[in-house]
Amino acid sequence: MELQPVIGLEIHLQLKTKSKMFCNCNNEWLDASPNVNICPICMGHPGVLPVINQRAIEMALELGLALGGRVNDLSRFDRKNYFYPDLPKGYQVTQYALPIIQNAQLKIANRIIHLRRIHLEEDTAKLIHTPDYKWSLLDFNRAGIPLLEIVTNPDFSSPEEAKLFLRELQLIARYLDISWADMEKGQMRCDTNISLRPINDKKLYAKAEIKNLNSPRAVEDSLKYEIARQKKMWEDGHPPTIDTTYGWDERQRMTVEQRTKEGDVDYRYFPEPDLPAVSLKEFNLEEIKSNLVELPQARRLRFIEMYGFSEVEARVLTDDPILAHFAEKTLSELKAWLLSIEQVEGSEQEIWQKHKEKFVRLVANWLIHRLIHLLDKYKTETAKLKITPENFSEFIILIYEGKISSTLAQQLLEKMFIGGLDVDRAMRDGQMIQIDDVKKIEKIIDKIIKNNAKVVNDYKKGKTNAIAFLIGLIMKETKGRANVEIVKNILKEKLH
Ligand code: ZN
Ligand code: MN
Repeated sequence: MELQPVIGLEIHLQLKTKSKMFCNCNNEWLDASPNVNICPICMGHPGVLPVINQRAIEMALELGLALGGRVNDLSRFDRKNYFYPDLPKGYQVTQYALPIIQNAQLKIANRIIHLRRIHLEEDTAKLIHTPDYKWSLLDFNRAGIPLLEIVTNPDFSSPEEAKLFLRELQLIARYLDISWADMEKGQMRCDTNISLRPINDKKLYAKAEIKNLNSPRAVEDSLKYEIARQKKMWEDGHPPTIDTTYGWDERQRMTVEQRTKEGDVDYRYFPEPDLPAVSLKEFNLEEIKSNLVELPQARRLRFIEMYGFSEVEARVLTDDPILAHFAEKTLSELKAWLLSIEQVEGSEQEIWQKHKEKFVRLVANWLIHRLIHLLDKYKTETAKLKITPENFSEFIILIYEGKISSTLAQQLLEKMFIGGLDVDRAMRDGQMIQIDDVKKIEKIIDKIIKNNAKVVNDYKKGKTNAIAFLIGLIMKETKGRANVEIVKNILKEKLH
């Protein structure tokens, strides 16, 4: 019997609002000392009145509209009742019957994933277990932080698709600037549910829910594990019969049963009596829509069509909104420079089109291969990038005009990167002025020829690539500063 996975995701995104969901406390829990951003409201004291954070609602609308969702005219908060130490009130304020958004969607690898609902709720406190498991500590800074919960239909048919979707959603949240969405830091969390069914069967079978996955990788791995486990059950003639909740044990690389799943009825949802219903008609949805930034998928396509970046390059560049902006700003600087020096006839567009490809190649190579390498090497976040697109484009022009060797260019870029320097300043600081002096270069070449008689002989006997070896030695001797064109010309003359 051939079985097919049926996978759905439930994602929690911590929103980047200034204050918490229902009180004025700072929305900050990662870097703050424990239990400093708290008040009677987020501690759930009796007799307090929560107030809805307008900005959190706007952020939910931004994501919902960006993903083509339907905005409910009226939205409401409900109490979800359950007991847990991290929940001081004994209930979580969430949305049940009337979420903010319904029926949004996101296309992943040519498959449309339906987002059943997007709703707001409050985060719980953070439970910290001491290493010896003697004590459990509570940090209430996190209690009441706004969460956006996103629930998909079971539309995924493979763990890879689920992982791709998560990565894309994470990127969208960052583009919209509504969440840091770092899974390792708990700013984005994911639960999955998975069942198997015979191919062509439309029925849904009992599912496993895997809770609190903290990386796209863990999502993929745990789903793969669960598919194998359930497949075996089907093959043994005992497919799963009840919905069950699991955790993912990263070390043992297996799912671990936690409890059989409670149904919605167990939570005794009822409307939150302390909060008014929210009339979403009163928000200017058209304005929110028109202020939305370009989403990563659209930007990727545009980078390919408008500039001629390859698919891989477009992905690398757009995977970080700061880098995407950097690339685009650099190219616009280069275009402005080109138009300012180009004397030929023709419209600006024609001139740019004629030279564009060469510039785009240079930007692709030096940004993706060298600049990103430097970010890695110095463990720098793009947000802290010191080199500006203006300086970077000056640097590209230097290469475009053939005024600098590749070795020298690499050293120069590193100087510019570290110090945030422009080209002139970095060159002066690094004493890396190019050697154009023919006499000086000739002297070095003579020395290299003298010391490498065998290689010179090989070249004369017809081993033409021996010349590359000699050029390499000359560049090494000059620390990459010799003008390569001049070196090549003199060397060829001398070897004749
Ligand atoms: Zn508070
Ligand atoms: Mn939730």
